[in-house]
Amino acid sequence: RRTNKRDELMGKVYLTGAGPGDIELMTLKSLRLIKEADVIVYDRLANPEILKEAKDGCKFVYVGKEDSHHILPQEEINEVIYQNALKYDSVVRLKGGDPFVFGRGGEEGIYLKERSIKFEFIPGITSAIAVPEYAGIPVTHRGVTVSFRVVTGHEATNKNKSQIPWENYKTDDTIVFLMGFHRLDKITQKLIEIGKPKDHPIAVISQGTTPNEKTVVGTLENIYEKAKDLPTPALIVVGEVVRLR
Ligand code: SAH
Repeated sequence: RRTNKRDELMGKVYLTGAGPGDIELMTLKSLRLIKEADVIVYDRLANPEILKEAKDGCKFVYVGKEDSHHILPQEEINEVIYQNALKYDSVVRLKGGDPFVFGRGGEEGIYLKERSIKFEFIPGITSAIAVPEYAGIPVTHRGVTVSFRVVTGHEATNKNKSQIPWENYKTDDTIVFLMGFHRLDKITQKLIEIGKPKDHPIAVISQGTTPNEKTVVGTLENIYEKAKDLPTPALIVVGEVVRLR
């Protein structure tokens, strides 16, 4: 074990992404770190099979969150990671997808930095791109759209202080909403309000990249009725690229 200036035992934290679901969409680097880890601090993962790769005796700490429903507040998650880093050589903080895409990886990094704990970020394949891709929807396509944006749907109904700048979404960017499925009706309503046609293409993809994947394609007007009962996790893709499926 390494020691710090105060001669305390200290490990290193790897903030890594498990990918979107299919275990083969995890990076080789994440897999190696999971195999070597003394502790794995993990979220609700699209594929818990990944944890079977850990070595015997590895400690598992679940700090999962389900959409906006945090089982532990972020501050406590930060502290759990920190405390484990004081005790163990190799701490893996495992998140779904990529740690920086609505994964709060940055906040955890800052917390560790302030406490002089060594850490490293390991990118993961984000569901924002991979889930539409497995469903046959490209987030960009030559001649169809030149850009895409990834948005949290979480703020969509904070009535007066929605952080989503809806007026900016009048462009024909592909829009991928994460954490927005439970607000699907509000999101489609807003997009129609800012002037998108009612028959504008939209898809909802549930449990993407897993054997249970379900994709429902529709229009802003009818998608809610068609897709509302799908199981989570689910994401929403809006734009002409949906027609390429
Ligand atoms: N850091 C993650 C995203 C965290 S936000 C990443 O990079 O993928 C969690 C949201 O991601 C969910 O609410 C859902 O909208 C989306 N999501 C994650 N995995 C998914 C999957 N397998 N299928 C569909 N949506 C998924």
